[in-house]
Amino acid sequence: MDLMYKSTRNNEETATASQAILKGLAENGGLFVPERIPKLGLSLEELAEMSYQELAYEIMRLYFTDFSEDELKQCIVRAYDSKFDTEEIAPLVKVDDTYYLELFHGATIAFKDMALSILPHLLTTAARKNGVKNKIVILTATSGDTGKAALAGFADVEGTGIIVFYPKNGVSPIQEKQMLTQKGDNTWVVGIHGNFDDAQTGVKNIFKDRQTAEELSKLGYQFSSANSINIGRLVPQIVYYIYAYGRLMKHEGMEAGEKINIVVPTGNFGNILAAYYAKQMGLPIHKLICASNENKVLFDFFQTGTYDRNREFVLTSSPSMDILISSNLERLIYHLAGNDSEKCREQMEALAGEGHYTITEEMKKGLQDFYGGYTTEAQTKETISEIYKKTGYVMDTHPAVAAHVYQEHRRGSQDSIKTVVASTASPYKFTRSVMEAIDEKYSNMEDFALVDELSRLSVTVVPKAIEDIRTAPILHDMVCEKEDMLAIVKKILKKD
Ligand SMILES: *Cc1c(COP(=O)(O)O)cnc(C)c1O
Repeated sequence: MDLMYKSTRNNEETATASQAILKGLAENGGLFVPERIPKLGLSLEELAEMSYQELAYEIMRLYFTDFSEDELKQCIVRAYDSKFDTEEIAPLVKVDDTYYLELFHGATIAFKDMALSILPHLLTTAARKNGVKNKIVILTATSGDTGKAALAGFADVEGTGIIVFYPKNGVSPIQEKQMLTQKGDNTWVVGIHGNFDDAQTGVKNIFKDRQTAEELSKLGYQFSSANSINIGRLVPQIVYYIYAYGRLMKHEGMEAGEKINIVVPTGNFGNILAAYYAKQMGLPIHKLICASNENKVLFDFFQTGTYDRNREFVLTSSPSMDILISSNLERLIYHLAGNDSEKCREQMEALAGEGHYTITEEMKKGLQDFYGGYTTEAQTKETISEIYKKTGYVMDTHPAVAAHVYQEHRRGSQDSIKTVVASTASPYKFTRSVMEAIDEKYSNMEDFALVDELSRLSVTVVPKAIEDIRTAPILHDMVCEKEDMLAIVKKILKKD
């Protein structure tokens, strides 16, 4: 029997894994969730012995049950290969007394590569399985990292095209240059005058627009999503938490069954939700620590049970977390409500209407798995600088947000539980913020000079992803108003 997926807003709508991957979003704006979260099929001792690729197969086969063994293995082999600069794929590094799960060794040096290197293969396989003849057009809103990782994943993948929208003034110079230099005849990059939420809302509206879907289907196109709402991104992210646990057993002598904390610098709630799924599958996790930057809507939610997006949007030095509507939280809300799609839909409609909702006392009990914290801009800088001075390890702003929340949690709870911080970006991605945190004198230096200085300070090699864009030509220059996103999409596809 196949594991089926249901919409968080309508339990009547069901899909197989491959259909859910193809659609991205359910009919009425809901997200696909598995009807039950599978349990780990093997013992922790067995899982700990596996390579990343073997483990990926072992986990994904539990979720993507309508893929054949051969199909799934093909997807995994193509995804987790030499695009990653280490055979470990996701190495676990101990710094001081904390473990950093480095998720930035892929093509675009941020954790989005972990899922976006496999999504194009899952998607094209799913299309084949479902007899889809249309060309699949990926529409994506990005706060910086998803965009480049999705472009890199889909570039020149046959039968697909990709259009990425990003906030014109809301990403780092290196992030922008990474996207604007993207090669591939099937790639388009568009800056919008607006923030990430505007871009994400615009993309969601295009997905919901039936008339446009019909119009484009006649031209031989259908939309899909590479955003973290796609179940094809969520599931591959579960793998590395289990991998990290196995590394602790194998290299740190940890006993199977010992509980660990996981700290995740959070924006759209996708990465931490994957850790929550890992816990539900049976991975021994004590607390899921959700770290926010100054856009602390999730922190407030964990404190009060009220999610309220009506607030000032803050641009921070961890822009991939500058988000006020954390899309994937919808999946948690659905599970907290006892997989009740009616209740979930009501809450999400309240969020879309009044901009806030409050969960029931009963649902709040399920939040005990989580601990929410946040880090200010000043604390982010201090954390980078302190850890560098103490250990020589240079970390990016996003994991620094997480490291600080963890330090505070640890002081408060006095627990000495082994803790894994999801390290979501390489320090080479937001080099300016990182270097200015270490020493203000760097504020006058030019971007690539900073890159070389970082390499010297941290005694690490400049990643290929950065070397490649030093001299690469700009290939994209489209910019539009947030109201004009649909018009731009049509224009692109009619010309294609
Ligand atoms: C996307 C991203 C995040 C946030 O992850 P979510 O799954 O959206 O919560 C954190 N850090 C970096 C570097 C990212 O690119």
